[in-house]
Amino acid sequence: MTIALIVHGGAGKWRPGSDDEAIAGVKAAVEVGRGILADGGSALDAACAAAVVLEDNPIFNAGTGGTLNFDGFVELDACLMEGEYSQVGAVSGLQRVKNPILVARKVMEETDHCMLTGEGALRFARTMGFPDHDPITPERRRDWEDKKAKLDENMQERAFKTRRFLKQHPEYAGGTIGVVALDEKGVLAAATSTGGYTLKLAGRVGDSPIPGAGNYADKVVGASATGTGEYVMRTLATRQIADYVRGGMKLDAAMSRMLDELGRDYNADVGFIAIDAMGNVAAQHRTESMPHAWFVGDGGIVARARVPQ
Ligand code: ASP
Repeated sequence: MTIALIVHGGAGKWRPGSDDEAIAGVKAAVEVGRGILADGGSALDAACAAAVVLEDNPIFNAGTGGTLNFDGFVELDACLMEGEYSQVGAVSGLQRVKNPILVARKVMEETDHCMLTGEGALRFARTMGFPDHDPITPERRRDWEDKKAKLDENMQERAFKTRRFLKQHPEYAGGTIGVVALDEKGVLAAATSTGGYTLKLAGRVGDSPIPGAGNYADKVVGASATGTGEYVMRTLATRQIADYVRGGMKLDAAMSRMLDELGRDYNADVGFIAIDAMGNVAAQHRTESMPHAWFVGDGGIVARARVPQ
């Protein structure tokens, strides 16, 4: 079977001049994942290892470098799914952990549950040996302070609706990370991890930890979504892409159909990466950028900041 792996570093608007950094970041993650797959490793191991590289890179909005919520702290969401037996592990609203994707893996392997959230997820992480870690970087704190300062007066104390405001101030939006891998046994796996977005309400859970929304893998397709998660949740977009492929569409066409629907119905700022069981790879987005990189078989790594128009 062909091996393949693709990663994204988040759909959105990236800081001017940051393309090279983002490209280097996604490429480094593919290199690690490719090493594991080339040695006969599993899609699950490759997806996890690539996700850890991205979570540890502070330019991405996942793990270290996660965005701050309205109250000024970081709540992380992550999901890992493998396609052979549809196993899932996820965490949401998880604080003070370095690698949420590894906690998600423990949820998959060590519990009878699919997702743990908030305080319970944190307690579980500590029980599993994950030490205390502050994911806040000076850049993310500055971004939060800038955006908070721009909120108008009556929003300062409480802002239940910030979507329009964030559309007007998209600087640094994005940075969620995602990985999809296909191993030599033909098994697909997907991993997605995020801080959500700046100024989200405390307690807000996005699409990323939700199987079939931000992250999905079955026997046909593995996919990861990025962008405003509320639209991805409403449409169960990654599962829908898999269903379109199951119905006979090619992967690229299935993804563009989903993106067209999200554009038509919500003008949604979203993007996807995916691999199908044949080893076809796809990446598309409706945002200015979505750094992504991939390899297939013994081909080289391709990395770019956006899909060329
Ligand atoms: N999908 C993520 C969320 O809504 C954010 C992103 O991908 O930029 O939490």
